[in-house]
Amino acid sequence: MQQDTLAIHSEYQKESQTTMNIPILMSTAYNFGTTDFAASSFNLEQGTDNVYTRVGNPTNAMLEKRIAALEGGSGALATSSGMSSIFYSILNIAQAGDNIISSNQLYGGTITLFTQTLKKLGIKVKFFDVEKPEEIESLVDEDTKCVFFETISNPSIDLPDFEKIVQVANKFNLLTIVDNTVASPTLCQPLLLGVDIVVHSASKYINGQGSAIGGLIVERENLVEKIKGNFRYNFFNEPEPSYKGLIFSDCPATPILFTFRARMVLLRDTGGCLSPFNSWIFIQGLETLSIRMKKHSDNALKIALWLEEQEIVKKVNYPFLKSSKSYDLAKKYFKDGASGLISFEVENLETAKTILDNVKVFSIVANIGDSKSIINHSASTTHNQLSLEELEKAGISEGLIRLSIGIENCNDLISDLQQAFQLAKK
Ligand code: PLP
Repeated sequence: MQQDTLAIHSEYQKESQTTMNIPILMSTAYNFGTTDFAASSFNLEQGTDNVYTRVGNPTNAMLEKRIAALEGGSGALATSSGMSSIFYSILNIAQAGDNIISSNQLYGGTITLFTQTLKKLGIKVKFFDVEKPEEIESLVDEDTKCVFFETISNPSIDLPDFEKIVQVANKFNLLTIVDNTVASPTLCQPLLLGVDIVVHSASKYINGQGSAIGGLIVERENLVEKIKGNFRYNFFNEPEPSYKGLIFSDCPATPILFTFRARMVLLRDTGGCLSPFNSWIFIQGLETLSIRMKKHSDNALKIALWLEEQEIVKKVNYPFLKSSKSYDLAKKYFKDGASGLISFEVENLETAKTILDNVKVFSIVANIGDSKSIINHSASTTHNQLSLEELEKAGISEGLIRLSIGIENCNDLISDLQQAFQLAKK
């Protein structure tokens, strides 16, 4: 089946159900029936959907199976937010004394997680220039656990060279983790490009209407081959005391590995689970994801081309512009467009403020991926906790404006920007 069909039909056994739409199963816990069944559930012999909703829930399981199908992965885990999915993907492999290697172009929240919170937990993050994957090589040591990067960096709107990054990481048998929030599986499937783990903020394009927060972790097929016996991943290869000495990479209960451990250890112990109600919202979102991504991308390209012609605009960042340094990578790795994010630079903070304060259709909001168009001043909002040096490294000037282009009529969006530009010119 093709992706747009999978997004609507996969995993739902309509023959055995009476509802066309997937039901929301709001239950904290499940009736085991017998003591033997209860005991075997706790021994991880019965799957994880019907034990306790902190570690699994049937509605969440539908979302997990669908995102796994759309990403071309083998399994997934739903979490309470995009940030918790990123946090868990790291905690699942690293502890105090370890380090990870990360792209220098990241969402602001991920930068603070990496530079502040992980540091306090004793996990060091070494950054590489995402345009120079060869830098990874000199950063790897015995305690390195993964290479982390984003499909489309926000707000610089750059693309990574997947193949090159994966190649260097594989040389050291290192896991690669990609935040695929901005592209979504409709536009890019990193697991099929050799990446090991994908994380998502489902709060963005998967949701599509800015109505709920959630996160997802997806693992590729046959990840066990890379993890089993790999000295870097002792959490999976040494006996787990809390499951009577179970070795995760030998666990016969499930063919999935990374998300299984994240669920059975991290969700169990730290509880960042997704509400089944939010899962249901994301399941609705997935059904229309492919048509929305096409409209977001078409609108964004038209607006980016228009912005390039405006005198007030110094520079426009959008991967499918011929002027973009990511143009060749966009053609190579992106199927149907490059999503809805554009950033552009104007002369200074004053000009940026006048534009933001005068748009009428766009809203000033700290979000992306909504059906409604959003305008944002990155330096003072999403990346506000960064030092001047970090802002410069992330390519964020005071005049940088980020647009998250929605699915409204493109001409209305252009007219809105045009009237705000006019006021800024005065
Ligand atoms: N990853 C990216 C690329 C994001 O843009 C965001 C939020 O803006 C996140 C992760 C964090 O997601 P959430 O807000 O769901 O925690």
